[in-house]
Amino acid sequence: MHATLGCNPSYTWKSIWASRGLIEKGISWTIGDGRSVNIWNDVWVPGLPNGRIVVDSISTQFSWVADLIDEQGRTWKEDVIRLLFTHDQAEQILKIPLAEVPILDFYTWRYDTSGIYNVKSGYKLLMGPEYFSSTELSDLQKCKKRVFDSVWSCPIPSKVQITCWKFIKNYIPTALNLAIRRVPVNTDCLLCDSSPESVQHVLECNFLSHVLQVLHVNLTYMTGEQQWLQWLAQLFENLSAESTKRFLVAIWATWGYRNKRFHENANQRPMDIADFVFHYISEFEDVAIIRNPKPKPKVNNWLPPPTNYVKANFDASFQAITKITCIGVIIRNENGLIMGAGSYPNLRALSLEVAEALSCRNAVRLVLELAFRRVLVEGDFLQIINKLLAPSFDRSPSSPIIQEIKQFSGNFLSLSFLHVLRDFNKAAHALAKDGRRFDSPRIWIEEAPTTVEAVAREDRLNRSS
Ligand SMILES: [Zn+2]
Repeated sequence: MHATLGCNPSYTWKSIWASRGLIEKGISWTIGDGRSVNIWNDVWVPGLPNGRIVVDSISTQFSWVADLIDEQGRTWKEDVIRLLFTHDQAEQILKIPLAEVPILDFYTWRYDTSGIYNVKSGYKLLMGPEYFSSTELSDLQKCKKRVFDSVWSCPIPSKVQITCWKFIKNYIPTALNLAIRRVPVNTDCLLCDSSPESVQHVLECNFLSHVLQVLHVNLTYMTGEQQWLQWLAQLFENLSAESTKRFLVAIWATWGYRNKRFHENANQRPMDIADFVFHYISEFEDVAIIRNPKPKPKVNNWLPPPTNYVKANFDASFQAITKITCIGVIIRNENGLIMGAGSYPNLRALSLEVAEALSCRNAVRLVLELAFRRVLVEGDFLQIINKLLAPSFDRSPSSPIIQEIKQFSGNFLSLSFLHVLRDFNKAAHALAKDGRRFDSPRIWIEEAPTTVEAVAREDRLNRSS
């Protein structure tokens, strides 16, 4: 992040360097042991403006986030935090989940739920919030939305969509864009020699028009009064579905050829590119037909675990404004009988996903405490189950908790994770709601609150009918 452009940068590095500001804007720390993160300088508190602590005076006694964590209990030092920070800051910090086993701190990309940077979320950030608010869109915003919808709904590979989206956003390192960023380049178009090579030029370049002619795609070109987005919106409106597909793949293929020409001095005719586009589309469609998955048979009720196993269902109720979470866990045996249940009210969580991760962790802990060794753990939050089944970890705020859950698995003879639809997780859901009545965590052995017992009974009856 602190690198400079240097005096003889490569073409790729020039392009990466140009988007550096964007990456910096979207990155923050996720806390593991807190030893790498500076309390006062780093971006680490989700929910605060820019993710940073802003105070009138800095306490020099505390520098690292690790100083705010009680190493023994792996909890926040709430008294210290309340002393050092404003009420709002303290509330946000206390919501950050701490795994029981400390891991290293890591960087998170804040604009994607996986925490990993991708082009699409990068552009969300660049475009600002206006594209996503549906009320009172201006004409121009409507055009923008129509154009993006046409690109994202077109059945073509996502790498093609991403390149086209970058074109529309003018975020392609064309010669002109590099020149504007003061990268020394020749601004002539590599395909037709006219100048300068802007994004708009690439779409209007003679080379691409020849490609499109061969593909029988007829474009109307931009008139003087039209704005770029208005022109594109109108264009997509007039093109048939097939022509839209060919147009987008042709843009991608032509830009790819242009880069090949830049790096390897490749030499191809518009006819060759058109031929490639045609075959690329038909190949993609063949593969899509093969891959088209048959609808899976739906499981339509809570299912008991196999003999000698128990199943733990978990759920979290999460209030988006207060971020107050209540967790429900219910453990049942092969006959659908309740073995144990737990409710954990008044927890703080950054997001629903973190709430669900904490909920799953509590489920695993409870089965462990009750000494079950063959266990299925089931929830209705797909992302969490996917993360538990994935061989590696992502960089999202729930990641420390996911890592902790995985570390528990050594204590079991068998521990597996399943996803079900919400309707089939009713008992845990009822408990997550019911638990809000209490102030502190409660555990029930071989029973549960009446409302939850009723749901469990229904599950049992449906099973045998
Ligand atoms: Zn050109």
